[in-house]
Amino acid sequence: MAQLYSNLKFLRYTDHLEALRVQRVVAPVHIRIKPMNHCNHDCWYCAYRVSNLQLGEDIDYKDTIPRAKMFEIVDDVIAMGVQAVTFSGGGEPLLYKPLPEVVQRLAEGGVRVATLTNGANLKGKVADAFADYGTWVRVSTDAWDDASYAKSRNIRVGEFSQLLNNMTNFSARQSKCVLGVSFIVDGTNCTHLYDACVLLKNAGVNHVKFSGVVVSNSGAENNLYHSKIRETVTEQIEKSRTLADEHFSVINHYHDLDERFQKQYQSCPYLMFLTVIGADLKVYTCQDKAFTVSGTLGSIAKRSFRDFWFSDENRQRLFGLNPSKECVHHCVSHAKNQAILDLLSIDPEHGVFV
Ligand code: SF4
Repeated sequence: MAQLYSNLKFLRYTDHLEALRVQRVVAPVHIRIKPMNHCNHDCWYCAYRVSNLQLGEDIDYKDTIPRAKMFEIVDDVIAMGVQAVTFSGGGEPLLYKPLPEVVQRLAEGGVRVATLTNGANLKGKVADAFADYGTWVRVSTDAWDDASYAKSRNIRVGEFSQLLNNMTNFSARQSKCVLGVSFIVDGTNCTHLYDACVLLKNAGVNHVKFSGVVVSNSGAENNLYHSKIRETVTEQIEKSRTLADEHFSVINHYHDLDERFQKQYQSCPYLMFLTVIGADLKVYTCQDKAFTVSGTLGSIAKRSFRDFWFSDENRQRLFGLNPSKECVHHCVSHAKNQAILDLLSIDPEHGVFV
């Protein structure tokens, strides 16, 4: 099975690496668009909803990107040569009414499209759109039965069965769109990871990616939380791997979170590869700093995304951000940043001695 996840995808974009060397702004390869902040679930660990985590200090749950503005962004994205768009939260992206049309317009404009979702609305027209035009859909979950799902998300009992139905129906389609699951591991579900994988495999899911829940802005506090369950999690993930075959795999991203908190570097090269547009019409550095002041690159409420992206204001911010001071919290792109900075630091005279 070809690899879907890698920290080395940036190596395919030599123009972006060269732009970083000379501090030139080029269009991002990938954009995350958060179309609305309303969500139909209330996960206990949601970084946009709990007060002790970095994300979302400025979030307004009523915000949504107006339809006309969304299509303006879509046209910019296509014109700029952006390669991929992922829809995510903020809120639940599949509740955004114009999404089927947006997905179609992007795909017909040559942009690959994907979504993160809780899967409750993975049905009807929006499921049709992703089945027809999507590259992947990734359902975020954390449960193994109706009761555990209802408890972790503060929703009615029965929704987990409905979710499995939605995934079964989606995976049964004749579609190239890859259906994956992002499973958030915590102290409650850690003894049920194998059970969950059996159900998800039976629902036709292509892969399950395990990640540890983030419970604090402090790496040490996260490690303390996970140190108590790590052995159990490791056993469960190994057991889950016995389910792997040509149609199903288990991906282990449950690693030490601590290293993702402290940064020694003074620039973030990943900003040139991926950016985030929020439902509040602000452009943010990344998903770890969305809806925060320190993650704000600027506003596109009164200007187009393309105009903003290539502005001097954005250039100053992109090359001025200092992660060692401004990002002392979880960063999903930490390993990628380290790899890019390592590559850029090679002395060309000595780089030939491979
Ligand atoms: S270092 Fe990480 S958290 Fe900071 S801006 Fe870059 S990607 Fe975001």
